[in-house]
Amino acid sequence: VKQACIVSVGNELLSGHTVDTNAAYIARQLRSIGIPTISSHMVADLQSTIVQALRLAAEEADIVIVTGGLGPTDDDLTREGFSEFLGVELELREDLLVRLGEYFQRRGVPMVRKNALQARIPKGAQVVPNEWGTAPGILAEKDGKVFFALPGVPREMERMLAASVLPRLRAMASSQAMAVRKLKCFGAGESAIAEMIGDAMDRDRNPLVNCTAHMGVITLEIVATSQTVAEAERLAQGQEAALREILGLLVYGVGEETLAEVVGRQLQRLGKTLAVAESCTGGLLAKLITDIPGASGYFTRGWVTYSNQAKVEELGVPRELIERYGAVSESVAEAMARGARRKARADFAIGITGIAGPDGGTDEKPVGLVCICVDVEGQVEVVREVFPWERSFVRLRAAQTALEMLRR
Ligand code: ATP
Ligand code: MG
Repeated sequence: VKQACIVSVGNELLSGHTVDTNAAYIARQLRSIGIPTISSHMVADLQSTIVQALRLAAEEADIVIVTGGLGPTDDDLTREGFSEFLGVELELREDLLVRLGEYFQRRGVPMVRKNALQARIPKGAQVVPNEWGTAPGILAEKDGKVFFALPGVPREMERMLAASVLPRLRAMASSQAMAVRKLKCFGAGESAIAEMIGDAMDRDRNPLVNCTAHMGVITLEIVATSQTVAEAERLAQGQEAALREILGLLVYGVGEETLAEVVGRQLQRLGKTLAVAESCTGGLLAKLITDIPGASGYFTRGWVTYSNQAKVEELGVPRELIERYGAVSESVAEAMARGARRKARADFAIGITGIAGPDGGTDEKPVGLVCICVDVEGQVEVVREVFPWERSFVRLRAAQTALEMLRR
């Protein structure tokens, strides 16, 4: 399998002033044509670091794409770096000089001497045409590997990549295809999931399974490589089935799906309606639900009943219940859900009450304690969980957990 290395050149990247979006963009594009990126390096505007990066990249990969450092100023040293790495002189290309002249004439701007520097490319290398700016790109080959230099300006880089680089790489890697699938899981941590799927995550496997965690959602990415797209798809599909078998209900969706989307689809399919009563999440649950287009098809209303009085007046939570068990209790969560379902005349309802923190916790009821009740046509399920994190995360996890309970 032909693999790529991306080298991003520029002091502004290393100082943290500019985020290296070029590497991410290129990696995505390469992946879409079946080429995995094995490494990415970020280097300063220095000839020696550029040469070092090229040498390292040549050891690691078959395809090297460099961006940045093709400008006309003294800190643009990618041309020089290429020439040293390839062991050839830079040569002034008359055709490029003419093109540059025309470019400036078209823009009605005088061309200064420095711009002529951009008309030099390493002897024997090819030009990657740049119709969107002044810096031509470079294509060189060495020991059977290919090296591209593209400008750092994202819009020029992106257009040149599409027009000249990807077509060539597609031909080079025509017998290589990649299929990617993502499984979204909720309800168990990264390590628990990794343990369940065992050696499926071994690094030398095909398909490869990658695991990432974000806001309580665990994403398992399946990457299959093969000679044809159909075969890669078949491999990925097989792996997906195997993982689903092991993980069962922990898998809630695929691709970029969110819990709210999946729950919404279920409600839509069942023709059921939903109402929510929230305390500590302050409307976040209703927000997540209504973020999904078409939520009006199943979501009827939500209450943010923050005070005890609101819980009593709006939802009919018995005052004695709050006095006896406290506002953050399973009983009150249940009474909130039941009240919401009744008042909204909905099929399903959710009640959430908790202590989002950072203050207000006790030994018995610590910060992060959340009680959630799901009322499905009168059948209630209540959970009591402690999310020992900061306020925003407690609230998010409470809302996600409520959706997850409804999904099951
Ligand atoms: P030119 O494009 O003029 O040939 P160059 O290739 O060196 O020169 P720079 O002048 O270094 O490009 O950068 C041009 C612009 O592109 C700057 O705004 C810079 O921040 C941006 N840029 C450069 N590299 C990257 C990168 N890896 N990711 C995102 N933006 C970048
Ligand atoms: Mg630069």
